[in-house]
Amino acid sequence: MDAPGLWRVGDPAMVTPSLTGEGMSLALGSARCLADSLCDGVTPEVYRTRLRKAFGRQLSIARAFEALLQRERPQRPMVHSLSALPMLLRAGAGWSRGG
Ligand SMILES: Cc1cc2nc3c(=O)[nH]c(=O)nc-3n(C[C@H](O)[C@H](O)[C@H](O)COP(=O)(O)OP(=O)(O)OC[C@H]3O[C@@H](n4cnc5c(N)ncnc54)[C@H](O)[C@@H]3O)c2cc1C
Repeated sequence: MDAPGLWRVGDPAMVTPSLTGEGMSLALGSARCLADSLCDGVTPEVYRTRLRKAFGRQLSIARAFEALLQRERPQRPMVHSLSALPMLLRAGAGWSRGG
C-alpha cells in the first residue's frame, strides 16, 4: 500500500517482463496517464485504477507467458506448436503489448 499522495510513474508504477520490450512504452503510457489524471484533478487511487484498466491485461498476459517460458518441459512442444501455427505467436505478441 502506497503512502497517501504518492504518484508512481514509469518502472516504479509497473514493470512488464523484458521479453515484451515494452518497458519504455509503458513508462511513457504511465506518464501520459499521470498527466491526464493531474489535469482531471483525480486522486492517486483513481490514477492507479486508470493504470490497471489501461495496462493490467497486457501485463497479466506477459507475466503468464514469462512464467510458462521459464518452465523447461513445455518449451519444446510450444516451439513446435508455434512453428506450425505462427499466427498464435503473432496474437500472443499483440496481447502482451499495447495496441
Ligand atoms: C538492461 C536493460 C535493458 C532494457 N531494454 C529495454 C528495451 O529493449 N525496450 C524497452 O522498452 N525497455 C527496456 N528496458 C526497460 C526500460 O529501460 C525501462 O522500463 C524504462 O526506462 C523505465 O523508465 P523510467 O522513466 O521509469 O525509469 P528510468 O528510465 O530508469 O529513468 C529514471 C531516471 O531518474 C533518475 N533518478 C533516479 N533517482 C533520482 C533522484 N533521486 N533524483 C533525480 N533523478 C533520479 C535516474 O538517473 C534516471 O535517469 C531495459 C531496462 C534495462 C535495465
